[in-house]
Amino acid sequence: MAAFDDSAFDNHERVIFCCDAATGLKAIIAIHSTVLGPAAGGTRLWAYESDEAALHDVLRLSQGMSYKNAMAGLKFGGGKAVIIKTPDFNGSESLYEKFGENVDQLSGSYVTAEDVGMSVDIMEIVSRKTKYVSGLSKKEGHAGGDPSPKTSYGIFKGIEAAVKFQLGNESVDGLSVAVQGAGHVGYYLCKYLTEAGAKVLVADIDDARVKRVADEFGAIGVALDEILTQDADVVAPCALGAIINERSIPELRTTIIAGGANNQLETGADGQRLCDAGILFAPDYVINAGGIINVASEYYDDMDEDEVMQQVTAIGPRLAGIFAAARDSGKPTNVVADEQARKIISDAKG
Ligand code: NAD
Repeated sequence: MAAFDDSAFDNHERVIFCCDAATGLKAIIAIHSTVLGPAAGGTRLWAYESDEAALHDVLRLSQGMSYKNAMAGLKFGGGKAVIIKTPDFNGSESLYEKFGENVDQLSGSYVTAEDVGMSVDIMEIVSRKTKYVSGLSKKEGHAGGDPSPKTSYGIFKGIEAAVKFQLGNESVDGLSVAVQGAGHVGYYLCKYLTEAGAKVLVADIDDARVKRVADEFGAIGVALDEILTQDADVVAPCALGAIINERSIPELRTTIIAGGANNQLETGADGQRLCDAGILFAPDYVINAGGIINVASEYYDDMDEDEVMQQVTAIGPRLAGIFAAARDSGKPTNVVADEQARKIISDAKG
C-alpha cells in the first residue's frame, strides 16, 4: 500500500494503523494538521473494498477536516479515523474500547467524534479509555451531544444562502429540494426544510429511513438512482462522497448542489465542471461545519447553546461570501474555499 504516494496524502503529519487481533479492530487514524490545534474529526465505520480504499478515504476526509475547522474559525487542526468493517466485524464494546486506547496513545494530538456508522452510545464506550473524544451525551446546561442536528441546521442555512444567490429567493418556501440519504444529517435536514415550506424529495438505501421522513415530515420518496437527477431547485447530497463527477454532472438538472456529505466532488476538477454547467456548488466542508462547531464547544466547554447556534447560523453568510468571491474571480467555489482555508492555516504557521 503506497501511503506517501496516495493522491490525498498532502503532507499529512502522521498516519497511524491500529490493529488488535483479540477484538478484531482494524482502524486508521490520519492527522493532517495540528497547526490550528488538536487534529479533530470523526470516526467512520465502513466496509471498504480494500485497505487502500480505507486509507484513501481517511486521508481525504482528514485533509477536509483541516480545511473545515480552519474555515469555521475553530481552534482545531484536521484529522479523521476509519474503523474498517471487516467481514467478521462484531462491533463489541471491547473493540471500541481498544480504539479508544489507540486514540489516547496520541496524547490529544487527535480528538475523535461521530461520523458515518457511529453514534453517541459508541462514543461513550470510546470515552472509557480516552478523554480525547467529543460528541458524547449532552450534559445539562452545556452544549454538545449528537452533532447531527447542528450539522443539518448549518446546511439548511447554507441552502438558504445558495437559493438567495442563485435564484434570488429569500427562503426555501415553495422550492423543491432532493435529499440523498436520510440518516442522521438527512433526517434533520428534511425536518428543517419542510418546516420552512420546501417540498422535499428523498432517497435512501434503507427504506425505513425514507418511510420515517415521509411519515414525519411529508417528504416524498424517489428511486435511489433518480435522486441526484431530480429537476429540483436544490440537490442536497447527504450520504457518501464522490457522487459529483464527470459522469453525473451532465445528468444533473438542478442549478444548486448544497448538502452535507463530505467530499462530494470526486476530483477538484469537478468544481470547474459544475461552474461550466452553471451549477452553484456549496463547498461541503464549509456548509457541513455545524457538527464540528458543536463538537468544539463541547470539547473546550466555552460556548453555550445560543453561541453555538450563532456560529452555526454564520455558515450562511460565510457561504454567501464564497459565492460572491467565486463570481468576482471567475473561479469555482471549491477553489475559492480551498484558497481561503489554506491561507488561514499558513498565516497561523507564521
Ligand atoms: P448516516 O450513516 O447516519 O446516514 C447516511 C445515510 O445515507 C444512511 O441512511 C444510508 O443508508 C444512506 N445511504 C448510503 N448510501 C446511499 C446511497 N447510495 N443512496 C442513498 N442513501 C444512501 O451518516 P450521517 O451522519 O447522516 O452523515 C451523512 C454524510 O454527512 C456523510 O458524508 C458524513 O461524513 C457527512 N457529515 C456528517 C456530519 C454529522 O454531524 N453527522 C457532519 C459533517 C458531515
